[in-house]
Amino acid sequence: KRPYGSTQTPNNRAPSAKKVIAISSGKGGVGKSTLAANLAVGLAQSGLHVGVLDADIYGPSIPRLLGVETEKLRWNADNQMIPSENFGIKVMSVGLTTPKSDTPLVWRSSVAVSALIQFLEDVAWGELDVLVIDMPPGTGDVQLTMAQELPLSGAVLVTTPQMLATDDVSRAIVMFQDIHVPILGVVENMSYFIAPDTGKRYDIFGSGGAVKLCNTYQIPLLGQIPLTSDILNLSDQGKIPMALGEAATKEIYGSIVKKVR
Ligand code: ADP
Repeated sequence: KRPYGSTQTPNNRAPSAKKVIAISSGKGGVGKSTLAANLAVGLAQSGLHVGVLDADIYGPSIPRLLGVETEKLRWNADNQMIPSENFGIKVMSVGLTTPKSDTPLVWRSSVAVSALIQFLEDVAWGELDVLVIDMPPGTGDVQLTMAQELPLSGAVLVTTPQMLATDDVSRAIVMFQDIHVPILGVVENMSYFIAPDTGKRYDIFGSGGAVKLCNTYQIPLLGQIPLTSDILNLSDQGKIPMALGEAATKEIYGSIVKKVR
């Protein structure tokens, strides 16, 4: 089934990875890239060969999160782009090919998608077990076309608990279901906050949003990640909580890694 009148070629480009997992969200700022980076590190820690493709053309943040933001694009003798490496992960970002400026990038979906396909095909990824793709947030034309054109094995959807975010993520669920990409599950980020001084739990953005969503669409809830200063501070410094964070943080990310592995 090729919905929405798609004229694109079928979703059959040979992946350089055994598994290609999209990390997607209904809207920006919910922690999609942070999850993508931490999942990738967790997957690499479990012994897999992992690549991360940052396809978030609206705000590529993977290079900063994975500590490769100062790297320049390099090519090998076969004219393939050489991915940066950190935490044992190969990293390539659309952000590395665009000039650094405050000017917002305006992409037509056709241009965005051909740039992305080039990333898949013209990067010296080597043999990968898993390629994690940080998708642009939302369900517009660019996102739909990317999801259709990428050889996805499955999608992980990230949301915060509040209604506004879960409403948006339902649209993402329907989008992936329509193009027959299996949904591996939903991660609820910033689910709650535990006050470090009192140990009291606060459901800052409400509660139950992701559980309700997962029940409605019969998809797994992969985990609930609290809002923590550990995650916020480390991420801001280009350090990765899954590698360097507190035990509690690593345990939560670790349990999600096991489910998508
Ligand atoms: P998105 O990719 O959805 O736009 P990001 O991953 O860039 O979102 O995260 C947005 C901001 O929220 C970042 O500053 C990030 O460090 C922070 N953040 C993400 N998840 C958490 C969390 N669980 N606790 C604290 N801060 C978080």
